[in-house]
Amino acid sequence: MTQTQQTALLPAFMDYERLSANSSVVMKQFRNQKTVHAYLLTGARGLGKRTFAKVLASALFCTSENKPCGTCYECKQFFEGNNPDLLTIFADDGKQIGVDRVRDMIAKTSQHAFGSGYRVVLIEPVEKMTHQAQNCLLKSLEEPVANVVYLLMTHELTATLGTIASRCVRVKLSPWPDEILGNTLMKLGYSDQQIVPVLRRCGGNVGTALEMLDENAAGSEVQTFVNAAFSMTNDAACVGVSTKLKESREGADQYLNALEQAIHQALMVRCGMLDPDALANYPSVWQKASVSAPIEDFTELLTMVFDTRKRKAGQVNWQSNIDHLMLRLLEEQIKWQQSLA
Ligand SMILES: [Zn+2]
Repeated sequence: MTQTQQTALLPAFMDYERLSANSSVVMKQFRNQKTVHAYLLTGARGLGKRTFAKVLASALFCTSENKPCGTCYECKQFFEGNNPDLLTIFADDGKQIGVDRVRDMIAKTSQHAFGSGYRVVLIEPVEKMTHQAQNCLLKSLEEPVANVVYLLMTHELTATLGTIASRCVRVKLSPWPDEILGNTLMKLGYSDQQIVPVLRRCGGNVGTALEMLDENAAGSEVQTFVNAAFSMTNDAACVGVSTKLKESREGADQYLNALEQAIHQALMVRCGMLDPDALANYPSVWQKASVSAPIEDFTELLTMVFDTRKRKAGQVNWQSNIDHLMLRLLEEQIKWQQSLA
């Protein structure tokens, strides 16, 4: 395996010390293996607390000078998720964290470590722990075991967590500066063009930024589909577009919705209720049709989309349902091309 492939295991952003003086101090403690028993990472959801916790923990296990290096055996094992000395409790299923999970985890911390001697416990978010689970954790925070480090995370520091919080060193993550966030998104493969508008709206929150970029990607995929459907001029093109819809019966709803919206817009232009500029990105045959094709052409197509959706809910064969719609759309476009040329 090459060096690049190995370092690719590391998170895209690791310089948490650049985010605040507070996080810089803590990062140093982990690099120098001079940690305290428990930390509580606070800050809004999406600010990168879990990644920060992992970067911190990995520094305890890394055997290189520049920790975490991402290339030594320990780093590799850690970032591939195979370090038995990293114990995690995440409420990713949205359910509460019960006392049993905490008891199990505490029992493991009292056993011998497999590797360097450290055991690191990650719990996120602490507020999802039941009252009983919190009390159980509290006990082990009051009686520290050597070489066991707790990295607790909370999106919302509530009063009930006061007793736990008072036994931890608190590290608050704040919104990321635009420059750092922009560079991180670029490292993840996004372009300047995608990043700039998102930076303006995400409030320095990397999680929010990634969600927005995902939504944009989904949106442009739907747009590409509509353009392809509206540009079909022969059977081969029709087969391609149909296949796209058939591939995902679940995802088909958003394609059908976008198709309906696009036809509806053309109808509005045809009826003089919408400026023709609204169709500036439509294929030319649609722009022409929205000026002079019979209004019934559009209402018929809309009815076709409604029927397709209705049949989708029923037991009708999905493939023939889609073929039916796309062939009809193709026929209409061929007709327009000939009659409006
Ligand atoms: Zn390493």
